[in-house]
Amino acid sequence: MQFPGFYGNLAVRDSLSAAFQAGRLPHAILLQGEDGLGKSVLAKLVARALVCTASPEKAPCGVCPACRRALAGSHPDIAVAQASTKSGGISIEEVRRLRLWAAQKPSEAPGRVVLFFHMEKMQIPAQNALLKILEEPPLGVHFLLTCSSAASVLSTIQSRAQILTLSPLSPDDLRQAALEQHAGEDVEKVERLLPLCGGNLGKLSQLLTEKQGQSAREQAEKLLTAMLAPREAELMEATVPFLKEKARFREIILQMQWLARDACALRMGAPSLLGSPVSQALSQSLTRKQLMALPDFLEETVQNVDQNGNMNLLLTWFCARLRALAGQ
Ligand SMILES: [Zn+2]
Repeated sequence: MQFPGFYGNLAVRDSLSAAFQAGRLPHAILLQGEDGLGKSVLAKLVARALVCTASPEKAPCGVCPACRRALAGSHPDIAVAQASTKSGGISIEEVRRLRLWAAQKPSEAPGRVVLFFHMEKMQIPAQNALLKILEEPPLGVHFLLTCSSAASVLSTIQSRAQILTLSPLSPDDLRQAALEQHAGEDVEKVERLLPLCGGNLGKLSQLLTEKQGQSAREQAEKLLTAMLAPREAELMEATVPFLKEKARFREIILQMQWLARDACALRMGAPSLLGSPVSQALSQSLTRKQLMALPDFLEETVQNVDQNGNMNLLLTWFCARLRALAGQ
């Protein structure tokens, strides 16, 4: 079996591959792990492999008509359980509909495949309905389930499925995955984000594609909020969009100065001019001394932006100093 677009987790791949090639894939597989590790990518790969017409070693080949239909989401023997728009979880009615669907003869593949994503959002009655199918699965049908943690799924479902746990990627695997998935992306930006993502490719992709549509005020508020956050990485992440945007960063710092001055005013009992909840938070979280030092530090930052050519070094300095200033 092949795993295009899925990275790391060698033991999981080996186990799936061996079972698939021996024709002994369990009828129910539960993939668990935090969001962003590739559970749904892997579940879809297994579903495609089950309908692919190429040899088991090459499946899913990606080019046969069955693979192409599966990739387009239109294969007649693969169904994805739809989450209810109200609760966000898969409803009992949806489980019953799929139970009837799975019991029918496959249209063209050797068997039908049903995918259930985000089992942790599924209510107990719906899980019980699913359990009924797993207890007496229709012949040749495979159920592929994903959840953040198997503990959020009925133990009776757990015992009827093979549970596979996805792990974060090693730094090397994450780098390779990022450069493959985001070919053409700035390598320096990828390298800067790598240590912040805890081996989670989904998180890295999210940071790389984050929209820069926020106003300067909103971005300034985001940086000041990150300054107070318990996680050091939060501030580093918030500065990533400015790596190649020196002028924009300068603009944000000026906005931060306004917010900092407003926080100082609030602290001294004067009314707020900007009415920002972030100024309010600053005036309450920082000591008087820290507050008074903030506008000066931001002034120093503006001067450094004007003098310093290397944004990477500048942003690193900025994050460390800002956190220190806030006593973090
Ligand atoms: Zn194929």
